[in-house]
Amino acid sequence: MNQETEEGLFQAVLTHAPVRCVLVRLTDAWQAARQHRSLPAAARDLLGEAMAATALMTSTLKFSGSLSLQAQTNGPLAWLLCQTDHRLSMRATIRWDSTRPANDEPGQLAITINPDDRPQQYQGLVRFSNQGLAADLEDYYQQSEQLPTRFWFAVNEQRAAGLLVQRLPHRTGDPDAWSRVQHLANTVSATELLDLAPHRLLHRLFHEEGVRMTPPRPLRFQCRCSREKVVDILQMLGRTEVEHVLHEQGEVAVTCEFCGQITALDAVDIAQLWTDFEPRLPGDTPDNVH
Ligand SMILES: [Zn+2]
Repeated sequence: MNQETEEGLFQAVLTHAPVRCVLVRLTDAWQAARQHRSLPAAARDLLGEAMAATALMTSTLKFSGSLSLQAQTNGPLAWLLCQTDHRLSMRATIRWDSTRPANDEPGQLAITINPDDRPQQYQGLVRFSNQGLAADLEDYYQQSEQLPTRFWFAVNEQRAAGLLVQRLPHRTGDPDAWSRVQHLANTVSATELLDLAPHRLLHRLFHEEGVRMTPPRPLRFQCRCSREKVVDILQMLGRTEVEHVLHEQGEVAVTCEFCGQITALDAVDIAQLWTDFEPRLPGDTPDNVH
């Protein structure tokens, strides 16, 4: 838990209403996802919302595994992928092409759940509309006949944040509770989501319903890419192909799909790939190396 920036997942159970309330705030993880890219505001906001959304949605899963959100459109958003596992390790990437004209044609939004202990995955598809990610995700919960769920998001350069409220099953009692909690959640401002201490915010919004906080959970951005892995890939591709790309483009650049990090190798680096490419087993001779 990053106490200073209050990054993490904060969950409240309401004693007077059968509703789960979860707040997520991303600071370091958000910077890790976006600092390598120059994104227009619309793309930046969408990436932040998707990261907040997958953390919130993963927090409602009852098993170990991961949840991913993918979106594609014919407009500037070419591709968006965000994945979070049950430990709240997340990675995300976005391909935004400003040369593609904006249009009202809906794209596709896919939510995929991969349980660790089962071979099959579960995928739900809804349209990715221009009404915003929160509304599309609410459609997803409605169409997949899961529990009624609402989302609010806020993103700026420093932080990404989200709020989820979800009606819990099997609880009798106050029939107005769900609409009452939605009304309270609707009063949240972007400034509150981004800047107010999470416990204070959840108490401020829902104190009338009796807030009981569960321990906050840390989250982090985790990408496994490295320059060594890029070198391995290029060496496996082979000298002829890599030198062809070098000849065509003047350098060989490999972009990590998840953290957006670009590893670029110039002619000197590429020549080094093969002078450094020693046999890895003591018994290997230079004849084994191509
Ligand atoms: Zn990476």
